[in-house]
Amino acid sequence: MSDTKKFLLPEDRMPKAWYNLAADLPAPLPPPLHPGTGQPIGPDDLSPIFPMAVIMQEVSTERWIDIPEPVRDVYKLWRPAPLIRAERLEKALGTPARIYFKYEGVSPSGSHKPNTSVPQAFYNKQEGVKRLTTETGAGQWGSSLAFAASLYGLEVEVYMVKISYNQKPYRRALMETYGAKCIPSPSPLTNAGRAILERFPESNGSLGIAISEAVEMAAQRDDTKYALGSVLNHVLLHQTIIGEEAMMQMEMAGDKPDVIVAATGGGSNFAGLAFPYIREKLKGDKVRIVAVEPANCPTLTKGVYAYDFGDTGHLTPLVKMHTLGSTFMPPGFHAGGLRYHGMAPMVSHVKELGLIEAKAFQQIECFTAGVQFARAEGIVPAPESTHAVKGAIDEALRCKAEGKAETILFNLSGHGHFDMQAYTDYFAGKLMDVPYDQDALDEALASLPKVAAE
Ligand SMILES: *Cc1c(COP(=O)(O)O)cnc(C)c1O
Repeated sequence: MSDTKKFLLPEDRMPKAWYNLAADLPAPLPPPLHPGTGQPIGPDDLSPIFPMAVIMQEVSTERWIDIPEPVRDVYKLWRPAPLIRAERLEKALGTPARIYFKYEGVSPSGSHKPNTSVPQAFYNKQEGVKRLTTETGAGQWGSSLAFAASLYGLEVEVYMVKISYNQKPYRRALMETYGAKCIPSPSPLTNAGRAILERFPESNGSLGIAISEAVEMAAQRDDTKYALGSVLNHVLLHQTIIGEEAMMQMEMAGDKPDVIVAATGGGSNFAGLAFPYIREKLKGDKVRIVAVEPANCPTLTKGVYAYDFGDTGHLTPLVKMHTLGSTFMPPGFHAGGLRYHGMAPMVSHVKELGLIEAKAFQQIECFTAGVQFARAEGIVPAPESTHAVKGAIDEALRCKAEGKAETILFNLSGHGHFDMQAYTDYFAGKLMDVPYDQDALDEALASLPKVAAE
């Protein structure tokens, strides 16, 4: 085993194709349904809001999908991303385990999200789209799409969850730097926004509401499409470059993961690292794969696997996923990127197939892990990423207790430089582990749409 710290791929070894797990699934993914008819939707149903190239990827079962050369050229601004051995963290924990992390914080916006925002902007530009709308929680997706759109001269309108809009002015400034327009959601500009404001004038907003607003605006104009930063198959597909690179880098390290850990909000950074390894697992590899989610938005561990809407205003198709109900409002906590009521259908599906495990952690224990990581390895993790750090540290401590020298690989999905208020609150003892409201969850689950196909 080498004493190399960073495993760096040269640009010419950057993967030339994304990996599509749909090609290898032992059981097909349940199809998205039209909310009115209950029938599976086709590409045409999606064409008002997505470009055709993206829709064809959404429904594709081809194993490898070529990354267009111009997209690879933009990826080279920060990719291949480093794989780093967290040896100082291993020492601090006194574990016999070897810990590696794939660091996605090296992108211009500081997270894995430009891996999909760049191809999405590229395909929209190719099809003559002039304007994109989207939603953002903590602002990572909004700034990633704003960055990508700036490269292709596209206008961007971002509906930002109001509580984050007020709490994270620097994320807004970043979006504006890239030329995007940022609107606090719920807004009076859309039917969906006005409906919420009428009932809840003080609403802090949610991702589900912001999605409704962005979709509504995109559907209204021919020159405008919508872009989503997680959950859908094509987004997960674009993120698989993470796992494909990591596999080559683990080979450079002369090592092979026994456990893979990543945080799950909508599921995209998790899928990006995990799906290439699931391909190997389906061929007989023994790797364990652990998804880590916040205990107060516990989609995979406490949600039900059912058809549900992707948004609060019920404009999207129905997809089968682990859901807390589209009207569920998770309590405010700092990992804004993990506050979504659903989970990617493909991630939910592999959970049902028993190919992955899921764990939930409270935010304070995650920040404690994030601080320990920062003091050992230097990088300050995004609040979302601290969930993966906590998951990896727990595995390393289990190895210590069991005296096992396993190899752990986790996804450090982004840095926390725009989230330092969360760390300030943590050090001031102001962070709380607010439980979710069980009655509100029961109510949201009781109002799941009835689907004949089930
Ligand atoms: C958005 C985000 C997440 C959660 O989203 P996924 O789609 O589940 O990956 C995790 N980490 C960071 C840094 C993010 O920006």
